[in-house]
Amino acid sequence: MPKINIRNLSKIYQGRHGEVVALNDVNLEIQANEFICVVGPSGCGKSTLLNIIAGLENKTSGSVMADNAEIIKPGKERGVVFQQYALFPWKTVLKNVEFGLKLNGVGKQQRREKAMEYLDLVGLTEFANAYPKELSGGMRQRVAIARAFTAEPDILLMDEPFGALDAQTRAQLQEELLHIWDTKKKTCFFITHDVDEAVLLAQKVVIMSARPGRIKEIIDVDIPYP
Ligand code: ADP
Ligand code: ADP
Repeated sequence: MPKINIRNLSKIYQGRHGEVVALNDVNLEIQANEFICVVGPSGCGKSTLLNIIAGLENKTSGSVMADNAEIIKPGKERGVVFQQYALFPWKTVLKNVEFGLKLNGVGKQQRREKAMEYLDLVGLTEFANAYPKELSGGMRQRVAIARAFTAEPDILLMDEPFGALDAQTRAQLQEELLHIWDTKKKTCFFITHDVDEAVLLAQKVVIMSARPGRIKEIIDVDIPYP
């Protein structure tokens, strides 16, 4: 059974100049533990697809199931990382990372252990008590990734998470992400406009085309992660 099963999904926005077809009859299965990258030109519907899977956006027609239940709202089994790190500026790095667990009612001791485990995985142990403004862009994005993983979602939905970073930082974070994915056996759904990044990260690359917002091709990437 696929982790996420998308059938005949369409999304039409009511734009200022009439209807915009963002997704047109999209079909996709995401298997457990798979790393999928979605590429395609700007406006082809990548973010719309991610937001619908996240439960942040409603669909016009079709079906999107997670573990055989229709997705209608955000759920803690689906974590999200966006390009712009949405960290609370008034909270420390540790408190930011713990935040999702707190919402899920996890106790203080366990929260701290989990958060520190993931901060260690992204190399930020020493910055646990720093505030976001004291960190570089790459470090903030590491915090966002640690926060998303700390809540232990089954699937990580990432919308160009490294898009705003310089090449060297991006390469580091790609490696760290692959390491976490490999260690923790999570399902990853990752949007990028960088084909090299997609091929590096993914086992499966989904290529979308704009107008009418469809999947053009799905490519199996055969290079195993070393
Ligand atoms: P991508 O992530 O591939 O750049 P999007 O999913 O953001 O594409 O957008 C797909 C299409 O839907 C684009 O034509 C975009 O302009 C349109 N769109 C996205 N969000 C809205 C919205 N809230 N209202 C109207 N049109 C939208
Ligand atoms: P989560 O931890 O569940 O991913 P977020 O931190 O992304 O949640 O956002 C939770 C709410 O807090 C959102 O409504 C968002 O707009 C707000 N928020 C997040 N980061 C900031 C920030 N740096 N400054 C002000 N508000 C923020």
